[in-house]
Amino acid sequence: MTFSSLPTSIDDVNPRRWESFEPYFAELQQRVLDGGNIRQWLVDWSNLSALLWESGAMIYIAKSLDTADKDKEQAFLDYVNNVVPQATIADQALKERLLSLDVQDEDMTLVLRNMRNEADLFREENVPLHTELAKLDNEYDKITGGLKADWDGEEKNLVQLGLYLKDKERSVRGRAWKTTMDLWLGKRDVLNKLYGDMLALRRQVAENAGLPDYRAYSFREKGRFDYTPEACFTFHEAIETAVVPAAQRIYEKRRQELGVDVLRPWDTSWSVTADTGNVPPLQPYQKQDELVQGSLNIFNQVDPDLGRHFAVMAEEELLDLDTRSGKALGGYCSSLPVRKRPFIFMNGVGIHDNVQTLLHEAGHAFHVFETANLPLVWQTESPMEFAEVASMSMEMLAAPYLTKADGGFYSPSEAARARIEHLEGVILFLPYMAVVDAFQHWVYTNLDAAMDAANCDAAWDALWHRFMPGVDWRGYEASRMTGWHRKPHIFSVPFYYIEYGMAQVGALQVWRNSLIDQAGAVAAYRRALALGGRQPLPELFAAAGAEFRFDTDLLTELIALVERTIETLKAD
Ligand SMILES: [Zn+2]
Repeated sequence: MTFSSLPTSIDDVNPRRWESFEPYFAELQQRVLDGGNIRQWLVDWSNLSALLWESGAMIYIAKSLDTADKDKEQAFLDYVNNVVPQATIADQALKERLLSLDVQDEDMTLVLRNMRNEADLFREENVPLHTELAKLDNEYDKITGGLKADWDGEEKNLVQLGLYLKDKERSVRGRAWKTTMDLWLGKRDVLNKLYGDMLALRRQVAENAGLPDYRAYSFREKGRFDYTPEACFTFHEAIETAVVPAAQRIYEKRRQELGVDVLRPWDTSWSVTADTGNVPPLQPYQKQDELVQGSLNIFNQVDPDLGRHFAVMAEEELLDLDTRSGKALGGYCSSLPVRKRPFIFMNGVGIHDNVQTLLHEAGHAFHVFETANLPLVWQTESPMEFAEVASMSMEMLAAPYLTKADGGFYSPSEAARARIEHLEGVILFLPYMAVVDAFQHWVYTNLDAAMDAANCDAAWDALWHRFMPGVDWRGYEASRMTGWHRKPHIFSVPFYYIEYGMAQVGALQVWRNSLIDQAGAVAAYRRALALGGRQPLPELFAAAGAEFRFDTDLLTELIALVERTIETLKAD
């Protein structure tokens, strides 16, 4: 078996069988290495990894496009059960071999650091535990994907019910909210049990790795070399000081605009881009083609090369943007490293949120394009804290071009409404992010207590009061306390959330720079994207023109800019 026969397209492999990949791993493990052929060995391994990753991505995409198709689910389970565990072990053996070689390659410094970290963390006895966790994760998706309620004789899922949360009629919003909450509370025991099972497995994973708790494990697993749990607490405090008061000002303005005595939970999704009673809701597009064309026009204004990237995605059918029955919830951007292309999945229904999601996912897609020619696949992976700078910055950079005059979707006043909603969303998100992150710090450093779901409810509730004042939940305490059930990240990807907060702070800085010099800010953004994962976080942020810090001073400056911009947009 030689690498000349390695498939150059995943169409030529059976990704459900380990036998498709095994001979190549064996060859890499056995190949005689001297100083002269190590680079070629790395390139071959990288190409094999790319094939494996793209196989997994395509199987996941196929399953999420059609959750009712049993064969697609089985293909996913085959990949998870038959390929991933074996590949992880084989990959680990190659990493150990590489790390024993004492490679002095400047280009490989961070890749080697990450590999050494992964190798140090790896325990064979954790492989079946991760497989078990992936199954429980799939279970969460199935439970939440299956939540449906009768709405005037029609069956509605969570996404469809979510539309009514933006309705101008308060009674409709209230009914949609209560219907949604009842669906979740109906699964309260099931989700408590599921989370408890996950916590027990994660405790074992950390113990096997010789670490004091799963937080320590998770920080290592996520390669968080550039910040500590204490830095997260500093960020939480800065949010409490600089952002929570701004969020309360937004809630107070909404309360006044709605003309109500107190803001209730079903008033917070009420949206200036939806039907406000005085002006019609934003209807940016009907079908995918219009969304694609408008977005393409916008990207062309931000940067012609980025526009070309997006045009390629449309031409090569790498966009699946309209919602359909049976499609999984949510939106994501996958990387297909053999084709050197991204793929964007989402559930568009023609509202402004969908435009916003596409702008976001396109930022991820541009990251894939900008790193496509890096020689080794591992170098294309940037830390999540920066990956989200790519996407969140694109939301900000695209915002000035939402008007029809720029090829976008809206009249000037509609575009202003959309931008106000986005900027308010940035402010409202950060306190919520702090709740989600601080909750998990509590859970994984108080695991005995957290095994009792009632304590999780209490911990969540205390954080909710600290970071989310301004909304009256009276009568719905059970829904408030179980808010952690409704955050998939808490179940599926523990601790993966503060990245969004850090990245938002980075993106706000990129945007701040673009207000002074758009071309310069976009050029820096693209240079930073092109670095992939070859620099640590502070350097990646710096390349994009941003500082990697999360203190009260910086947050105060940025939030003030956001609030001033909102005022200006409202005045126009
Ligand atoms: Zn993202």
